[in-house]
Amino acid sequence: MAILPIVTVPDPLLKTISKPVEAVDDDLRSLMDDMLETMYAAPGIGLAAIQVGQPIRLLVMDLTEEEQEPDPQFYVNPVLTWTSEELATYNEGCLSVPEQFADIDRPAECKITFLDYNGVEQNIHAKGLFSTCIQHELDHLNGIVFIDYLSPLKKNMAVRKVKKLVKEGG
Ligand code: ZN
Repeated sequence: MAILPIVTVPDPLLKTISKPVEAVDDDLRSLMDDMLETMYAAPGIGLAAIQVGQPIRLLVMDLTEEEQEPDPQFYVNPVLTWTSEELATYNEGCLSVPEQFADIDRPAECKITFLDYNGVEQNIHAKGLFSTCIQHELDHLNGIVFIDYLSPLKKNMAVRKVKKLVKEGG
């Protein structure tokens, strides 16, 4: 496994509409393993393939707390099939927008159809943080980053801070 570099805003790659995965094979599983390791190292709770420069519809997530056993989840070609009318607000962050956080409203519950690590079709009904996180990650597949929901002023401020951070870090 390998830790991959994470793309940060304002890199135009993050605006890419990712393409469906054609086959869940060993090459894809190798990328899934690398993405998981990259996410754990960051550390983060979710990562979309485009965040490591791969424009394909693939997500990895793990919402467990530090003291719990890891519970890695892989979502290939995830499709949102239902969202609740009720909204929930979470203070979101993103590995592509390091150290910036903002309250974002999203449907409190949603249903997703996807292929798992072995290419088997699965359906889930997500609630709470799980629902927010998977919608945040699904947005990445459609070229949307959470700061796109903020006012232009707040968004530009966040991008400027990330640019400064990246410059200082490199
Ligand atoms: Zn993100």
